Amino acid sequence: MDYYNKDGELAGNDGQANDDFVMLLDGRDVTNVRARYWGSWWQQHWGGILTMVLGAIIGVVVGAWKGGLYWLAAIGLAAFGYWVGDRCFKSWFLPKKSTSVSDLVGTRLEPAPETVRAAAKRALERSNRPTTADPADQTFIADSAGGFHEEGGFWGTSPTGAEVIGQARPGSFADPFDQARAEINVFDVATPVSLDKTIGTFHVHPSGRLEREARRSGGTVSQTTNTGASDGATTTATEHAEFDQPPSVADVRNVRERSQRGEQSGHSFVIGARSGEIYFYDGTTSETDRYLAKISASRFFRGIP
Ligand SMILES: [Zn+2]
Repeated sequence: MDYYNKDGELAGNDGQANDDFVMLLDGRDVTNVRARYWGSWWQQHWGGILTMVLGAIIGVVVGAWKGGLYWLAAIGLAAFGYWVGDRCFKSWFLPKKSTSVSDLVGTRLEPAPETVRAAAKRALERSNRPTTADPADQTFIADSAGGFHEEGGFWGTSPTGAEVIGQARPGSFADPFDQARAEINVFDVATPVSLDKTIGTFHVHPSGRLEREARRSGGTVSQTTNTGASDGATTTATEHAEFDQPPSVADVRNVRERSQRGEQSGHSFVIGARSGEIYFYDGTTSETDRYLAKISASRFFRGIP
């Protein structure tokens, strides 16, 4: 299992090689886990330093043999050597000592189980695909291109305690020039499920980006030669609009209210289709700092078909 900090950077692991991970929300845990895994400054830089020295030596030898600006070759090869070593050999020198879960002292966030992550991955895929009009719902606007509507759902337990996952109907098409956020009701499911207790919810913030030509009538004539074109110059520029990716104030409020009413016991997450990040938030999350932690979608969905 891997440990990540709030920004989704690898802090270390527990020594077990698998796809599991947990988000460390307490800085003390991040410091301890990092120190064991990444080691000292020297341990983190040996890979780059060794190849930097090697590059410098080769540079001096080649420079002395060929003559001329040998010192430039030495500096260039030293820098290139550090770059190569830092990328290729850094990991050889890290102590990579593991930290067991029992050594953690602060709060941490366990991601939703694989079954939920699989459902979230399907929601992400659907969000990028077009939707079709619903004859029964005249207020629903189809997303003819894909990437301009939200998808999502929830997970929890049934009255018998079994795991329940609900997939919501797609949200309506949204134009990012008009609204920075599309909308969805994650509890409006296409197929009813016998939900007893909600643990968490998930929804996609779509990837769509629209461009349009912004016409601005200029107040000045830029050229003195008369082209006979028109009265006054007209300049065109391209403007674009896209959807916010982290959780919105409304998202944070919804979870807080559900948590306060005892209707949700765990966290929710937003899948940023354009940013490629997963954002976790729960009933304690503030409206100004709207997620507890984030991680890359590629890591979140690792091992999920
Ligand atoms: Zn949202």
